[in-house]
Amino acid sequence: MIEQDEMLKVLRGYDKDNITIATIGSHSALQILHGAKEEGFRTLAICKEGRDVVYRRFGVADEIIILKDYNDMISDRMMDSLREKNAVLVPHGSLVAYVGEENVENNISIPLVGNRGILRWESDRTLERKWLEEANIEMPYETRNPEDITGLSLVKFPGAKGGRGYFLVNNYHDFLKKSEEMRSKGRITDSDIKNATIQEYVPGVNIYISYFYSPLKDEVELFGMDRRYEANIDGLTRIPAINQANAYIEPSYVVVGNIPIVARESLLGRVFEMGDALVEVSKKISPPGMLGPFCLETMVTHRLEFIAFEISARIVAGTNPFMNGSPYSYLMFGNNMSMGRRIAVEIKNVLKEGKEELLFT
Ligand code: AMP
Ligand code: AMP
Repeated sequence: MIEQDEMLKVLRGYDKDNITIATIGSHSALQILHGAKEEGFRTLAICKEGRDVVYRRFGVADEIIILKDYNDMISDRMMDSLREKNAVLVPHGSLVAYVGEENVENNISIPLVGNRGILRWESDRTLERKWLEEANIEMPYETRNPEDITGLSLVKFPGAKGGRGYFLVNNYHDFLKKSEEMRSKGRITDSDIKNATIQEYVPGVNIYISYFYSPLKDEVELFGMDRRYEANIDGLTRIPAINQANAYIEPSYVVVGNIPIVARESLLGRVFEMGDALVEVSKKISPPGMLGPFCLETMVTHRLEFIAFEISARIVAGTNPFMNGSPYSYLMFGNNMSMGRRIAVEIKNVLKEGKEELLFT
């Protein structure tokens, strides 16, 4: 993995008055770049061919670089050119999904905003579970062996696939039947089936909690909450039961958008407790720990318990509904504090105080 010291050396060689905030053009880039501009930074969108139109039309990027392929992101030429621009990179879901966490760890040799090493902990389910369990956050029962299925379960596949191909099963027989069906339709592969995780289905409602840990303040801020809008599961309820039963529509969980949520106020104590615990544990498991934005993805049951099924160790797109602030960011900062802007504020303050080691790796 690229050493933090090496990146601090690169960063200290930069012209501090001309830092460029760069990100891959996708996912949450609009608010990252817009927030960076609001704080006076130069901005750069790195886009796959054909995806640049969004960043042009909204005018959030001072410069756009077009990639033929996401692999071009890690070329030496690209890295040299980014360093010439005094660029720091803000990671998000598309960086993890398309460039890959291993490339981020080993080949993206410009300063990364946040902890490079911790992205591994969100991509690997065993590590993720260890992190959450050490933080005393409850998780659903999970198995790799389909013969162990004891009740309604969700079959999930590795990687940031955005819910694609997930399916529900009640028992082992059901698993065999449905996985074969999905495979024959070409929706999943043999290797997906072999690497599937089978997770107890938690009845409840989902809440994705977005936090920001400020290393300068040493405090976890609650930034917003959302739930996902997913095809086709969120549309199924619009089909009357009698037609549903006859139509044999298999539910899917492909994310299409995000819907803002405000939680019952009595739940917020636990929300802060979980955020604090996650940061505390992160410092032990992956020093220097969780820096900046992260998200805990939970189901909340009728007993008002949070059961977490995933963590994202970077900004999530569930912050996109709050480009001009969320109810929670409003309480702390007043209007117009997006997560993207919050990242830029922290970058600015860290640079001003000469404490780069707190935020960059
Ligand atoms: P994209 O760049 O839109 O293809 O997405 C890259 C990754 O981020 C995929 O794994 C998506 O599932 C995830 N992602 C993108 N947009 C959202 C969203 N609005 N909510 C949750 N996840 C998302
Ligand atoms: P994921 O891709 O893991 O973020 O999950 C996609 C969708 O499945 C989201 O709508 C989640 O709320 C839902 N989901 C994930 N895990 C579970 C679970 N164990 N029980 C119930 N719903 C889940």
